Amino acid sequence: PPVIGVLALQGDVREHRAALEASGARAVAVRRERELAAVDGLVLPGGESTTIEKLLRTFELYEPLQQALRAGLPAYGSCAGMILLADRLVGAAPGQSTVGGLDVTVRRNAFGRQVDSFETDLVVQGVPDSAERPVHAVFIRAPWVEEAGPGVQVLARVAGGEAAGRIVAVRERDVMATSFHPEITGDLRLHRLFVQIVSERG
Ligand code: GLN
Repeated sequence: PPVIGVLALQGDVREHRAALEASGARAVAVRRERELAAVDGLVLPGGESTTIEKLLRTFELYEPLQQALRAGLPAYGSCAGMILLADRLVGAAPGQSTVGGLDVTVRRNAFGRQVDSFETDLVVQGVPDSAERPVHAVFIRAPWVEEAGPGVQVLARVAGGEAAGRIVAVRERDVMATSFHPEITGDLRLHRLFVQIVSERG
């Protein structure tokens, strides 16, 4: 099976590891450069993007991760992970920067203070049966994709309500990102999609 790392500095690492294992991958924690070098793909979990950025620098992983992504390492970022993968960020904290790798503009804490978290059902491209059996998406102080570059495939948009039409899942080559947290719902289809992306590349 493909070996998929979960960036294990902060955030919901355990949930992603369990979802990857249940999706047919071998999941390993990544905190060191040598651990990063040994994986076929990497998940950047949800959590707090400024905290993860600081820890990436402390663990001297920031630049190695940037280089690995430039060299084509498959990656999947959920929520804070989406923020870290964005080439451009609006609503950033003072001094906040991103690792990049995805040609998107992401707005941090996009859904506003009044709606810190909400749940909705989504049709997701690449999850073939999601029209009949939608992906239940949980958003927690989530970002959205404000603008996607020409090479970026939009996988999902919010269907209704105030945020209708907002882009909440994207893929560019072997890098995908979601605003929401499939790792906490028990629905493995997005993790399976990522495991498939990593396997096809290997
Ligand atoms: N708001 C968080 C951030 O800016 C992301 C929230 C999450 O990952 N659940 O990093």
